[in-house]
Amino acid sequence: MSLAETFIKNAPQGISPASDEIAQALSRLEPRTQIFIDGKFVPAASGKTFDRISPINGKVIAKVAEGDAEDIDRAVKSARKAFDSGVWSDLAPAARKKTLLRFADLLAKHADELALLETIDMGKPIRFSKAVDVAMVIEHVRWYAEAIDKVYDEIAPTGPGGLGMIRREPMGVVGAVIPWNYPLLMAAWKFAPILAAGNSLVMKPAEQSPLSLLRVVELAAEAGIPAGVFNVVPGFGPTAGAALGKHMDVDAISFTGSTEVGKYFLKYSGESNMKPVSLECGGKSPNIVFADADLDQAVMASGMGVFFNSGQSCNAPTRLMIEASIKDQFLEKLKGVAANMAPDNPLNPKTAHGTILDGTQTKRIMSYIEAGQKEGAKLFAGGKQVHQASGGYYIEPTIFDNVKNSMKIAQEEIFGPVISVIAFKDANEAVQIANDTIYGLWASVWTKNIDRALTLSRKIRAGTVTINDVDGGGITLPFGGYKQSGIGRDKSLHALEKYTQMKAIYIK
Ligand code: NAP
Ligand code: MG
Repeated sequence: MSLAETFIKNAPQGISPASDEIAQALSRLEPRTQIFIDGKFVPAASGKTFDRISPINGKVIAKVAEGDAEDIDRAVKSARKAFDSGVWSDLAPAARKKTLLRFADLLAKHADELALLETIDMGKPIRFSKAVDVAMVIEHVRWYAEAIDKVYDEIAPTGPGGLGMIRREPMGVVGAVIPWNYPLLMAAWKFAPILAAGNSLVMKPAEQSPLSLLRVVELAAEAGIPAGVFNVVPGFGPTAGAALGKHMDVDAISFTGSTEVGKYFLKYSGESNMKPVSLECGGKSPNIVFADADLDQAVMASGMGVFFNSGQSCNAPTRLMIEASIKDQFLEKLKGVAANMAPDNPLNPKTAHGTILDGTQTKRIMSYIEAGQKEGAKLFAGGKQVHQASGGYYIEPTIFDNVKNSMKIAQEEIFGPVISVIAFKDANEAVQIANDTIYGLWASVWTKNIDRALTLSRKIRAGTVTINDVDGGGITLPFGGYKQSGIGRDKSLHALEKYTQMKAIYIK
């Protein structure tokens, strides 16, 4: 049994012992804290570091190198050199596959360690870090490894006078900037297809959650991904992130984060080299429950869909729209789900609801809970910050009833465990409310009426519409947004479109 595994099995219950547990775990994990460039860990050129604070107890857990423009430039140069040398980009897809499968095996071997780093760094329950986040990261690496030697190029129908070939080539140096809510998984949605397609990569994790990725990139090198192909530069958005966005030698940007910052990357591109930018941004997903739905299933999924990961999910079904005739009955049951999801120490394997990311996010969520009440919505369950004595950040699962879609809590992304309940009278009104948002990432519809389900799936403007579930499809379905939820798609074979250029070759 590995040290991390023993630790997870023996983690005690309750909030208060968390400080000791973290110190104990960290001394075993020895987190990597430097910048990873050209196959090596190095300090920031400036020598600066920033503090990582665990949301479990509010204490400093590591000092991480603070990369900025100079480090990004060094990383891009190393990525370019690796790309141009062909050491990865010119390998046969089957050879890249072999290395990536070795990488996946190493991730699996270190799953407990990675899960523990993730939980200590950003506070998600250890059982989900391991069974959801790290498990899906491994699946992503394997899936793209296995896919890449099975995708064919095209021959154009030019006629007998010549031969037109349409080839997909790697973009070159791809820059990726990722958020903190699923630090490793959001990184893997990008690094797995980017590397499989033969690109070199410079990735900037969110300043709030760099630790797991810094270990993963080391494992990638151990698996045989050549130096310079996969670089990780921790640092802040306005410095390191912007430098990557504006770099003249970065061929494409892949971003996941807020809509506000996503728009900056479009600007950076216009101000620099017109690099293509793909964006996975925010959401305020409608979750529409008709009276004929399987209500028990709908209740459970509607609650878990938001309370999972403390509501810090871009596609969380936060606008719960219920047909008026069943609303009260539905809410009584939903209260039960909320009560079962009281926040607790994320290091305990039984915990289902961990922390909020940090003090800033906690204040932000609490200000929305206040705004909801001021605007006249009814606080139906939860609403309080709890366990403050631990030094960590915890908020109760919260439900607002009598919400109008024009209210702040229905229009803005709260990114916390807060459900806004809106009643509707019929399918037309449901569609109108669902689409009355700047976002279009995700929507869910609950009904046994197949005609109604399909009609709504067409009329709702969102990248994904799920019927009788708030999730599903796994890696096989593309993920991404309409409207201000983004541009481009992650997951599935379609993700490869962002990381390859189309080349036409004509032979007379
Ligand atoms: P964020 O504040 O937009 O940050 C995302 C990344 O951008 C971070 O690495 C951040 O760096 C960087 N950044 C911040 N300001 C920047 C700037 N001026 N120039 C360049 N880079 C900059 O988002 P977040 O708070 O980390 O994550 C939550 C958001 O992500 C939510 O809106 C959520 O909906 C969205 N999200 C979307 C998806 C999806 O697939 N659609 C998935 C997950 C999350 P620092 O924070 O280190 O400064
Ligand atoms: Mg941030």
